Amino acid sequence: MIKEQKYPIFSWFLVQKPYDTTMSKIPPFEIIRASRRSLSLQISQKKGLVVRAPFSVPLDIIHAFVERKTDWIEKYLARHTERKEQKGTTLYYLGQVYSFEYNLLQKETVLQSEWIFIFSGKVQEVSAEQKILTGWYRKQAQKHMNERVTYFSEKHGFSFKQIRITSATTRWGSCSGRNNLNFPWRLLMAPREVIDYVVVHELAHTIHKNHSSHFWWLVESIVPDWKAHRTHLREEGWRYEIPKF
Ligand SMILES: [Zn+2]
Repeated sequence: MIKEQKYPIFSWFLVQKPYDTTMSKIPPFEIIRASRRSLSLQISQKKGLVVRAPFSVPLDIIHAFVERKTDWIEKYLARHTERKEQKGTTLYYLGQVYSFEYNLLQKETVLQSEWIFIFSGKVQEVSAEQKILTGWYRKQAQKHMNERVTYFSEKHGFSFKQIRITSATTRWGSCSGRNNLNFPWRLLMAPREVIDYVVVHELAHTIHKNHSSHFWWLVESIVPDWKAHRTHLREEGWRYEIPKF
């Protein structure tokens, strides 16, 4: 049991030493006491784990509070380390992870079993690799999206005008009032079945220009597990970027 500590009433806020968590799986955290009513937990790259607590709340309650949040903390840490490690080493293509190599001798950008070789040409700018890769993804995206949109249109009787590949970063697809379909090239990083869901979603908008129950009913009749794919994009979508070089 942890002894309750007394704090001088004149201090507005007080920083306690990092709590010793060597006996549990909780990472060390700092406690900041302040005149407040509830406990809060913050996590950041810079400051680590910080608990803000009212003066009167004893340490064991704070500890229990942090312990209840362990899953959340672990998720954050896992995601963060992963993001860091991933930078500049891997690329996604149709849901598969590839390492890539920037190769001066390579004549064009090619995809091999586990590698994407980037054709370098005459590279002077720092971001040239990124441009080459983006161009390559765009080309693949145009081909892939044409093929999938045509497939679903023919099979289910949708009609559309044009397919455009965009650099959008905040949406995975859109359908204009005139039934032009737009997809970001980044979508090509997602698994095939997730891409198919986005295709069907946008094609369904050629019929329903909204997200009504009729719209979702139509999507579900073609992609019964659309919810899993939507969740995938929400949770994994951040991975689908070209790393900064
Ligand atoms: Zn939509």
